[in-house]
Amino acid sequence: MSDEAGGGKGVSVRLDKVSFSYGEALFAFDAEFTAGQITAIMGPSGSGKSTLLNLVAGFEPPRSGRVLIGGADVSTAPPATRPVSMVFQENNLFAHLSVEQNVGLGRSPSLRLAEADRAAITDALARTGLAGKEKRLPRELSGGERQRVALARVLVRDRPVLLLDEPFASLGPALRDDMLDLVAGLHAERGMTVLFVTHQPQDARRIARRLVFLENGAVAAIGTADDFFAGAGPEAFRRYIGAGG
Ligand code: ADP
Ligand code: MG
Repeated sequence: MSDEAGGGKGVSVRLDKVSFSYGEALFAFDAEFTAGQITAIMGPSGSGKSTLLNLVAGFEPPRSGRVLIGGADVSTAPPATRPVSMVFQENNLFAHLSVEQNVGLGRSPSLRLAEADRAAITDALARTGLAGKEKRLPRELSGGERQRVALARVLVRDRPVLLLDEPFASLGPALRDDMLDLVAGLHAERGMTVLFVTHQPQDARRIARRLVFLENGAVAAIGTADDFFAGAGPEAFRRYIGAGG
């Protein structure tokens, strides 16, 4: 790795009495995410799922409280050294850059790449099934392939915390399963701490050990995914998944 924040091994993520607001929308998050586990984050639209991830990523500073990753306050770390990487629902690829350049950005924002970086990129492209498509531009790829590029970029970034904000929502079920298997395989290998926002109960069941249910900008329930899906979650959760997410 070309920077010190690297190494995928998971660390704990803690939102310690965090409050935040977007105008009228208020958030209060108090939660701990166990190191090295995959936690699904579910909840109705507007319940604060993306906001929670943005706080963990350090994109937004809390109004009060602290976000601790591996015990260290995120807000004190310069952005480039924060131990997180994120995949968004709408892939954030640069339209004018090739597949390999988009992936390379995960390694070096200036695309000044050493031999080891190039090897990591080649490996990530192979694992995500993109070998042979290195020179293509994002518009020359399918939607599924573009999300693979976004995953390859976090793969080479190799941070201990992986944030997934409905990354596969636009894909069909078969492609989604492929991507989930890729995430599960990476997790088995590297043991990152994964916060996985999804509206799809079957996706949460497939890869998540724990589940956090949000309502109205706060954590309404936390438990094992098994318990939630066995009916032990709150009534609001059963209504939510009953309504198709
Ligand atoms: P979710 O991801 O669960 O659908 P979000 O965290 O995106 O919910 O949004 C929660 C609330 O915060 C919504 O009411 C939304 O309108 C508001 N919100 C989200 N992002 C912004 C923003 N950048 N500026 C103002 N309000 C926002
Ligand atoms: Mg969202």
